[in-house]
Amino acid sequence: MNIALIAHDKKKKDLIQFVTAYLSIFKKHELYATGTTGLRLCEETGLKIKRFQSGPLGGDQEIGALIAKNEMDMVIFFRDPLTAQPHEPDVSALIRLCDVYNIPLATNMGSAEVLVRGLEHGDIDWRQLERGRGKKFSIKE
Ligand code: PGA
Repeated sequence: MNIALIAHDKKKKDLIQFVTAYLSIFKKHELYATGTTGLRLCEETGLKIKRFQSGPLGGDQEIGALIAKNEMDMVIFFRDPLTAQPHEPDVSALIRLCDVYNIPLATNMGSAEVLVRGLEHGDIDWRQLERGRGKKFSIKE
């Protein structure tokens, strides 16, 4: 599965701890991340992660583009609900696209735990079929 990992600055430590706790599961998947989150995760877990731009510089939108192309299967996004983000519109757009395409999304550790366990149990295997179908929506001319 293709999994996107993102954490706002005050949540990066939590995400690193979370990924470390479930390292054996994450190792089996293709991981993607926004710039700084990805760098920290690579350094501290040793995982191979494809990194995009930093979130405020467009990384959330790059991940959104993969969702729109039906190439992302899960998003784990540890948001900081107590700090204003300069790129809040990008954050909302990413979450919106998860809803448009029914992509499993966790925005905190409690729900991320359920998603990752579900992933391990095969509860998200339907995504492989869905991905095989290519783009779900097309622009009508
Ligand atoms: P970052 O971006 O991983 O580059 O810090 C995350 C975000 O704030 O969207």
